[in-house]
Amino acid sequence: MTRREATIFVSLAGLPFIVPHVVEDFAGGIAERVGLATGAAAFLLGGYLALQVWGIVGVGQGRRVGWVITVLGERGLDRRGGRGPRAGGSRRGLPERRALRGVGARARPLAGDGRRAGLARVAPGARVVRPGADVVVVGGGPAGAMAAMTLAARGVSTLLLDKKRFPRDKPCGGGIRYGVLRRFPALADYLRTTVEIHEIRKVRMEGPSGASLLAESDEPFYLTLRRTEFDAALLARARAVGARVLEAVRVTDLLFSADGVAARAVDGRVFTARLVIGADGVNGVVARQAGLGGGFPVDALAIDTMEETELAELVPADPDTMYVAYGYKGYPGYGYVFPKRRHVDAGVGFLLSFFKERLDGPPYEHHARFLADARARGVVAGNSNPKNFKAYRLPLGGPLARTYADRVLVCGDAAGFVNGYTGEGIYHAMVTGQLAAETAADALARGRCGAAALASYEARWRREIGRELADSLRIQRRLFARPALVDTVIRAAAADRRLCRLLARVALGEEDLRRRKFELVVRFLLARFRRGPSAARRLVDSV
Ligand SMILES: Cc1cc2nc3c(=O)[nH]c(=O)nc-3n(C[C@H](O)[C@H](O)[C@H](O)COP(=O)(O)OP(=O)(O)OC[C@H]3O[C@@H](n4cnc5c(N)ncnc54)[C@H](O)[C@@H]3O)c2cc1C
Repeated sequence: MTRREATIFVSLAGLPFIVPHVVEDFAGGIAERVGLATGAAAFLLGGYLALQVWGIVGVGQGRRVGWVITVLGERGLDRRGGRGPRAGGSRRGLPERRALRGVGARARPLAGDGRRAGLARVAPGARVVRPGADVVVVGGGPAGAMAAMTLAARGVSTLLLDKKRFPRDKPCGGGIRYGVLRRFPALADYLRTTVEIHEIRKVRMEGPSGASLLAESDEPFYLTLRRTEFDAALLARARAVGARVLEAVRVTDLLFSADGVAARAVDGRVFTARLVIGADGVNGVVARQAGLGGGFPVDALAIDTMEETELAELVPADPDTMYVAYGYKGYPGYGYVFPKRRHVDAGVGFLLSFFKERLDGPPYEHHARFLADARARGVVAGNSNPKNFKAYRLPLGGPLARTYADRVLVCGDAAGFVNGYTGEGIYHAMVTGQLAAETAADALARGRCGAAALASYEARWRREIGRELADSLRIQRRLFARPALVDTVIRAAAADRRLCRLLARVALGEEDLRRRKFELVVRFLLARFRRGPSAARRLVDSV
């Protein structure tokens, strides 16, 4: 047999095994770019399989081929000037979104001749702040601080604006995956010395019917900390590296010109820049102003509560164990108790649509009920302190359909970068803040800040966290739709240590769900067959 014949033979023999992966992979590549119709995707898939048979393209390249074809298509359309942003629908793993307006459709042009960014007349009484900066970052949370820090470290003149004065609190459980220290090694020592960090090596999960699992690890799963300290430390670091920070500046809108963009504050000041990074959180204005969406719809939001109370008042039964009640009361959501060094942080979260339709009432009532239940179960002792209570929105519907526009990039909560079923968003805010800054710095160096020059931002974040976020949404939809499934998963994981470890690694973004799907299914089956074949069949249907 010749080498060529052998290649064809191997390709054909492998088809039954690879086809499901190819379909998933390839359709993902296409759908992520343009939300292509099934018929067109099938046509391209046929082409791909033909290439596969000829041994030209290796398994796993489908995604890249899909991207290349569609990116070329987009460029062509952009060049002809005939295309607005695509509607945010039908991308695999990401939620349907309303059709976007044209990029910049809501953005107002700078008055004047538009030749010099931000130097034109803008509005009666407006005070143009000169000189501006190459980049204005709106928002000084983890996303904005990381963006400003990265830009300043690359020598880009950077101005960060935040409506609050720091240290400021942000409603949050304050838990971050331990991997954050590996991902940002330059910050590890700094954070350990400036922020009180508590290491979590044990996580107890409980299902709605009381099924329970204790996951333990030598390496910490999570770090817990206070957001007042953590966010202030990151911002101080950005300042130390060279970013200018102005506090108590609330940005209300963006003003665009041919070669610049400016952020206008509520007091009328106008801050000029060549590029703006929106890191202004879940209620941010930058994405809206750039035409990247009209704000998160109700079905893409959760309402999460928290209170950070001193251990003297409210104390977890085990100060080293995180507690998560997944599918709490059979609702689409969770309750949590996170021990910190000198505090405990606890709360509940529900899909906002469910909360409005089925629960309603003051969020504190649901919060207090959860803590009363947790006390009855021996998870905490002591009392909830309503003075420390806050409720806030969390984007749980996946990233915006598009996260860049002319002269604008959005990151963190402002762009919806939150794990869909754990609710973890600090890590993703830091990662996307850094990636947005790197994209911005590269674009400035090339002197091109239009949407096409910033498109590589999406490729960067998709490469690093795209899979995790898409998978997290798939998991969220299944678990929130059938909370009883949580019990099934917990029981299976409790019976199989490797399965438990695998699920923990998926939740921490260290393992790719799709790559390990086969092993997961087999382990689930083995665990479930011990409990009866019909239960196993039900479970496999749902994986
Ligand atoms: C109750 C609750 C619990 C959570 N628990 C966890 C957890 O345990 N772990 C985890 O990883 N994630 C958790 N999250 C999510 C996490 O808090 C967010 O994902 C994270 O804070 C996102 O960071 P960010 O920098 O994008 O936005 P933010 O931290 O919200 O920062 C945005 C900043 O922008 C500023 N800003 C907003 N608008 C303007 C404006 N117009 N002009 C100027 N400045 C503006 C704000 O003042 C703020 O400082 C939780 C969220 C909630 C609501």
